[in-house]
Amino acid sequence: MPATKGGAAVLGYRDHYVVDGGKARIILSALVTPASIMDNTPMLDLTDWVCERWKIKPQIAVGDSKYGTVKNMTGLEQAGIKAYVPIPDLRKRNAFYPAEDFHYDPEHNQYICPQSHPLPLLSRRKSEEMYVYRADKKLCNACPVKSECTKSKSGRHIFRSFHQEYVETVKAYHPTPEYQKAMSKRAFWGEPLFGEAKDFHRLRRFRLLFSSSSLHSLSSFD
Ligand code: SF4
Repeated sequence: MPATKGGAAVLGYRDHYVVDGGKARIILSALVTPASIMDNTPMLDLTDWVCERWKIKPQIAVGDSKYGTVKNMTGLEQAGIKAYVPIPDLRKRNAFYPAEDFHYDPEHNQYICPQSHPLPLLSRRKSEEMYVYRADKKLCNACPVKSECTKSKSGRHIFRSFHQEYVETVKAYHPTPEYQKAMSKRAFWGEPLFGEAKDFHRLRRFRLLFSSSSLHSLSSFD
């Protein structure tokens, strides 16, 4: 699959590791995928595989912000594993008020905007597993801070995951000492494994071997 290298398309692969939390840094599973498979995609399958293969039940799973998808948070939490992952900060993506500036009112199933106006539920998007809330367009179009909130002429929209309760659970871990310690351990013990694999064990390239019916073996060569 193409990956960018100086703007040109090249063939590339990603290696994915599951590493235990001890000082020995035992690699419990390794997977090589085409570069088009994002880091976060195999997380739940790898977790299932590791639990089944090694007959273990982890209490927490730790990853960087690339792993902080709603799907991963939901899957881990539903499996009884605490998802210690950062949540991408969407504030940097545009100049408008982020969703975090809108207060959710569970009693009335609506959001309250920074100008204290309600955004009632507008629709459900099943394919995206999102609820859509929208403010009254007349209020928004007359709002003194509209330029900081939305360009829409039909009123500001807010999206809420069907699984928002798991996102809130994960957010609540972030200030805890346990979470901070786990993230620190990951950075100092787990993350260097990728560089060590390249520099000490010559795992810079993978050759995938095909049988007549399937992709069945992978090895490293340099
Ligand atoms: S633009 Fe609409 S949603 Fe945004 S602060 Fe103003 S009234 Fe509230």
